This record gives sequence, C-alpha cells and structure tokens, in this order.
Amino acid sequence: MKDTEEIIENSKKEQEIVDEEIQQTEEISELDKNINVDENSTKDETEVETVEEKQDIRELIKSFQPLDYFDFVNLHIHSKYSDGKADFEDIIRQAKELGYHKIAICDHNTVEGHKHFQDDVLIPAVEFDCWCGYVFMHLLAYGIDVNNPVLDEFMAKSKKETEADIVRIWARRDIKKLINAIHEAGGIAVLAHPACCWALNLDKFVGKLVSYGLDGIEVHYPYRRHRAIIRFASLRQIKDVAEKYNLIVTGGTDCHTRNIMAY
Ligand SMILES: [Zn+2]
Ligand SMILES: [Zn+2]
Repeated sequence: MKDTEEIIENSKKEQEIVDEEIQQTEEISELDKNINVDENSTKDETEVETVEEKQDIRELIKSFQPLDYFDFVNLHIHSKYSDGKADFEDIIRQAKELGYHKIAICDHNTVEGHKHFQDDVLIPAVEFDCWCGYVFMHLLAYGIDVNNPVLDEFMAKSKKETEADIVRIWARRDIKKLINAIHEAGGIAVLAHPACCWALNLDKFVGKLVSYGLDGIEVHYPYRRHRAIIRFASLRQIKDVAEKYNLIVTGGTDCHTRNIMAY
C-alpha cells in the first residue's frame, strides 16, 4: 500500500514537473511572439525611414527653417565642375564633417559631379543660365534625376559653358521649356539670387515666371556680399513676392571658394 501511495505521489510530482515545463514552453513561445512583433515593428520603422528619405523635394526644402541657413543647410554651392574652387567630393566631405543636414551643389549648366558622386547629405541640383524676355537670370533646379534625357538637352555642351560668364550670358535656353524639363526630371525650379535680376518690376517678373511653372525663390542668401553685383530689390520685397506667389523659399551662399563655410 505504501508503495502504491509512493507511486501515486511520484507520478503527481512528475505531472507537476511536466506542467511546469509546458508552462515554460508556453512562456517562451509567448516571448518568441513578442520578439517577432518587435522584428515586425523594426521592419516598419525601416520602411518609414526609406519613405522619409525619398520624401518629396518640396516637402524637404519646406521643412528647412530660416535659421538652418547657412550653418546646417546650404542649397547653393559651386564646385570645380563649373567655376568653383573646391573639389566636388571635398565639398561633400566638409559638409559631413561640419554636420550639415543637407547641401546642394549647383554647378552652372552641368550635373557631371552628381553623376560621379552621390551622398545622403547631397541634393542633386544644377544652376542654369537663361533669359526671360530681356532679363538675364539664373534658374536653380533641385531634386532632379541627373540622368533625365529631356533635361540633358539643356546642359552645357562645353567646359566653357560651365565657367565663363561671357560665354554663359549667350545662353539660348527657352525658359518655359526649361522649367517643364526640370519638372519632367522630378525636380523643382527656383529663381536664384533675385535681387541681382535686372527686372524693373520684380513682382511682374516673378509673376511671369510663376505662370511658366516656377516653384521657388532663393530668399536666404548673403545679399551684401553677393558677388558685388548691384542690387535691384531688397530682402523685404523678395520675401513679399515669395509670399504673394506662395513660392518655396530656399537659401544658399553661392559659395565658389574652397572652404564651404566661407562666402
Ligand atoms: Zn547664379
Ligand atoms: Zn551660383
């Protein structure tokens, strides 16, 4: 009898052990589920990041605040691919070392640099010489596909067309077609340093460009130091025009030097 009791007792104990093991297994599988959930949520976060990276160039530029210029964001830099003094890859290196959020290298009439070097800190861009009626102007393009064949038609055919002012002023780019091509290449068209434009009426001039599809206007740039060119409009007037036509506001130093902090 004692033996039987012992057997029963032992079997009870065994059952308890088995129950405990089952419980542990359940707990582990519950943990697994949680881990899986975590893995899934990590995947989701990665997807979100990718979407953010690919966010519309308009939204990206709109997210920059006036105080971001020029210490964290500089959307107007020239390299040796046009008339700048810095190597393209050295500009990228400096921007990263200095902790810039975004920069744009906008060489005159060429995207050759962007075809050779890409980086997270870099926005693909270019600065075109063109005429709008009797006004000679510079048109910036941001967020473009640098391999777009339609936009390629508007690029410089020689090295001189990327450097010499005297050559560049003879540009025969049709402003309407150029803005369309920039849009076709997924980018936005921005009027560069508007205070330098020889437009007697800036409001009317910008209005005309807006009717051709202009998206933005360079507002934050070093007006006083800007290449010693006579000013035709004040910062206040330009801000008013930007607001009136609901244009995307951009900024940059138009740096042509070796050191991107100097302008
Ligand atoms: Zn310019
Ligand atoms: Zn420039």
